[in-house]
Amino acid sequence: MSVCQPTQLKVFNTFGISTNAERICTATSTESLLSLWQEAEKNGHPVLILGGGSNVLFTENFKGTVILNRILGIEIQGSDIAWHIHVGAGENWHELIKYLLNRQIFGLENLALIPGNVGSAPIQNIGAYGIEFKQVCEYVDLVELKTGKQIRLMERECQFSYRDSIFKHQYREGYAIISVGLRLNKTWQPILTYGGLNQFLGGDVTPEQIFHAVCEMRQSKLPDPAVIGNAGSFFKNPVIPIELAQKIKSKYPECPQYHHNEHSVKIAAGWLIDQCHLKGYRVGDAAVHMKQALVLINQGNATAQDVIALAAYVRKQVAKKFNISLEPEVRFIGSKGEIDAVECIS
Ligand SMILES: Cc1cc2nc3c(=O)[nH]c(=O)nc-3n(C[C@H](O)[C@H](O)[C@H](O)COP(=O)(O)OP(=O)(O)OC[C@H]3O[C@@H](n4cnc5c(N)ncnc54)[C@H](O)[C@@H]3O)c2cc1C
Repeated sequence: MSVCQPTQLKVFNTFGISTNAERICTATSTESLLSLWQEAEKNGHPVLILGGGSNVLFTENFKGTVILNRILGIEIQGSDIAWHIHVGAGENWHELIKYLLNRQIFGLENLALIPGNVGSAPIQNIGAYGIEFKQVCEYVDLVELKTGKQIRLMERECQFSYRDSIFKHQYREGYAIISVGLRLNKTWQPILTYGGLNQFLGGDVTPEQIFHAVCEMRQSKLPDPAVIGNAGSFFKNPVIPIELAQKIKSKYPECPQYHHNEHSVKIAAGWLIDQCHLKGYRVGDAAVHMKQALVLINQGNATAQDVIALAAYVRKQVAKKFNISLEPEVRFIGSKGEIDAVECIS
């Protein structure tokens, strides 16, 4: 079944930016998604498939049809050693984690409270507290919108890397993710590598304890989008050459850096922004969050232009001080579809 709603997008993006779409429709099955897409195509309308809207910035009114993916369903099968969970792309990610915890199925607790839909999780290979989506992914199911052909990509085919996957490249346009397959080991091993969770090292810990600890840490650090509009980390943590990382470390020994590979290091973008004394910095009604410099917030009536000008300013200051170019993690959506976010803030 598909339902079409009024055209205001404010409630469909966690940044709370006020823009319109020509049409906003809900797809609850692959068939309805395909027929909505075909109808839009017939009318010459661009289409945007949206989950929870927690990783997008609408830079202007969308001159086309937004299809909200609400394909639901959770099917669980067990083998001797693992649970295999087939999940509709429109299920809410955090609710899925709670649902599985209640059934004694563990392994997703470090990824608790990440907003958005299950179908979006593979796109940027969501990650937090020492784990990435790719570690629990078995496969991703897509539909080719023009033909209705369904494609299953196994984990190794998804080209997952830090905040990246094949769904941002080869399968970005003309495809929709319709379901995801997860594989969770029946023998649970806690992942406690990330600061904040190492309080549990060496002792007995339960998945529920990790789930609650992650939720508490996130709630204390990050603004709740239901209260203050935001899209989480606005920028990716930049990956820089080891030589530059060493130079920064010798000047700022406290600078958080993480191993990436033998040639490069990942450096905390929030720390870089904080070093430029930008917490609380405002443009119009957009601001750098006071507690977490990596998050740009909408203080009530920010326009996309406020956010873009703020992001450009932050990027310029970081480049001036550290010679590092920040890249947005948030996807920028223009009047006809995704636009180049780096270009927008350069
Ligand atoms: C407070 C906050 C905290 C966050 N913390 C984290 C974090 O810790 N780690 C992390 O990785 N991310 C984090 N995020 C970012 C965000 O939650 C994730 O990227 C999430 O996976 C986005 O899901 P969504 O359904 O909201 O995607 P949307 O914003 O709806 O969509 C994102 C992009 O994917 C496309 N898309 C959506 N659904 C489909 C589909 N079915 N088929 C094809 N394309 C599709 C959209 O067109 C868009 O380009 C955070 C965001 C917020 C607001």
